[in-house]
Amino acid sequence: MTHQPKGGMCATCVHAHRDCSHLAFSTMPRLSNDGQTVIVRCTDFQRRTRQ
Ligand code: SF4
Repeated sequence: MTHQPKGGMCATCVHAHRDCSHLAFSTMPRLSNDGQTVIVRCTDFQRRTRQ
């Protein structure tokens, strides 16, 4: 089973260009599961503000 953050979260996150593969996605709150991929709410998400 593959875990990935909710689509769009990474695009607006300050960590978008970081390698987030170390994060424990499998322990994050699950939003949906299509049988192949579990979508999770990334607990390390930080909204990027305009600079
Ligand atoms: S911290 Fe989470 S939401 Fe942000 S870029 Fe990494 S995986 Fe995506």
